Amino acid sequence: MEGDLHRILLSFALQNAVRHGSVPQAGAVMGAVMSRHPELRPRAKELSGLIRETLSEVQALSPEERMDRLREIAPDLLEDLSKTREHIKELPALEGAEQGVVMRFAPNPSGPLHLGHARAAVLNDEYVKRYGGRYILRIEDTDPKRVDTDAYRMVQEDIEWLGLGITDIVYQSDRFDLYYDLGRQLISLGGAYVCTCENEQFKELKLKKTACPCRALSVEENLELFDKMLAGEFYEGAASVRVKTDLAHPDPAMRDFPAFRILNSPPHPRKEALVYPLMNFSVTVDDHLLGVTHVIRGKDHIANTRRQRFIFEYFGWTPPVYRHYGRMGIEGVVLSTSQMREGIRAGVYQGWDDIRLGTLRALARRGITKDAVRQAMLDIGSGETDISFSWDNLYARNRELVDPVAHRYFFVPRAVLFSIREAPPHTAHALLHPGDPTQGQRTLHFTGEALLPEAELAPGVKMLRLKDLFNIGVEWTTEGRVLTYKGDSLADARSEKAPIIQWLPPEEAVPCTLVTQEGEQKGYCEPGAAMEEGKVVQFERTCFARIDTVSREGIIAYFTHK
Ligand code: GLU
Repeated sequence: MEGDLHRILLSFALQNAVRHGSVPQAGAVMGAVMSRHPELRPRAKELSGLIRETLSEVQALSPEERMDRLREIAPDLLEDLSKTREHIKELPALEGAEQGVVMRFAPNPSGPLHLGHARAAVLNDEYVKRYGGRYILRIEDTDPKRVDTDAYRMVQEDIEWLGLGITDIVYQSDRFDLYYDLGRQLISLGGAYVCTCENEQFKELKLKKTACPCRALSVEENLELFDKMLAGEFYEGAASVRVKTDLAHPDPAMRDFPAFRILNSPPHPRKEALVYPLMNFSVTVDDHLLGVTHVIRGKDHIANTRRQRFIFEYFGWTPPVYRHYGRMGIEGVVLSTSQMREGIRAGVYQGWDDIRLGTLRALARRGITKDAVRQAMLDIGSGETDISFSWDNLYARNRELVDPVAHRYFFVPRAVLFSIREAPPHTAHALLHPGDPTQGQRTLHFTGEALLPEAELAPGVKMLRLKDLFNIGVEWTTEGRVLTYKGDSLADARSEKAPIIQWLPPEEAVPCTLVTQEGEQKGYCEPGAAMEEGKVVQFERTCFARIDTVSREGIIAYFTHK
């Protein structure tokens, strides 16, 4: 096909592949070509065959090669991509937010934050940024059974990492006296009572839509009982405060739900208490007292919103504007805090940042940036439809951010040492970044031998190009594979369709372990990678990786994504 036409088709095929992280359908490429090049419309029939050829070319490239190739042949299309990706979808307006908002992120300190938390954290943050106002971090630690002392610190670190614009921090464990006061007020308003029924007995009555005897007590009697609860005159389970709702409510879980309970153990790490407020009470009181105007939270809180409205009504307070987003299934990582904790204790996971976990610290360890997490959450938005979390989209977002800055290095997995016959010594100069020579270059010295990736020397391979070095012929003899120098010309390698592969001089190679979610891959990398501790690099033709540790034994890198 003519050179120009080939370039056009290939660039749109590449652009589409980079945008979606996979090889596109021919129709999608055709659509893009037709709209940008109307002069080609009469040739549509002929083009569809050509596009298919182009797609097999794209198929053969790794994601980063696709990006590099697109940059080479159509930098404008690559640029378009980053423009259109930014805020593809703007979040819908929030009703009543024009004068500014007060919003909150309200995690329980039971473990570090994970991807599920990130959605609430980022969406609320984004609205505060958009409308102006306050963003309260409310640590919801009113259930001592679900408090992990370390989590106070971890949650704080995770929030700093995410870069949330928190303006106020509130610990619910500092506010027990407020809750007790308001508990008394709710009783005085006739909105709550102390229930001393056996749990089972209450449940039975509730299912029959029947009031328990405690419901009929006077306000004075209830206040007295509440004081007795606070004075420690009841055992755990012997008394609770219940909000009067609607005993005929079709959902039994809505009928007279509890607002306070007694717990003798475990002790609370921040507050000595026997009487603990339950979530629906403390959340309602705090949303009101802190002046929260808008709440964005998951659908799993819809029933809580219903319960909370009863309390708002008794006090005559105006509830915030609520928005409940749909469920988000997240596959491939562990998200349950108790499962994570158990696995760490049993030694199955190295810690809270083990890359098989869905915590933010595990993502950070792999080199997923906070901005990519943020973008991915904004892409998902606050819609009510249940969705599954797209790792591909998170990776695509991250790739856009790290690709322009990640230095390139060779990593040779499953390395085999070869002498290369007739090859004169060479010094290879390779750019640290192919799109930006100002980032500098790396130098490797070839003196006769090279470490090569075993997988590239599969049967049938006749010619290879060692990237930024020279071409080699591969012969299969009875003694094994014989590699011979075949000149420096890149044009020759291209015309022979020789795969261009990474290599390393054995004298300069540094042992490198690439840790992936599936296990470890041993190999070698360039010495320059040792200067990148904590940074994301691109192991050319392999993947992006974060250089985690550099020691005398070598480098440990974590797989980021392709
Ligand atoms: N602490 C609650 C939770 O993490 C959030 C409460 C709320 O958003 O209303 O589920």
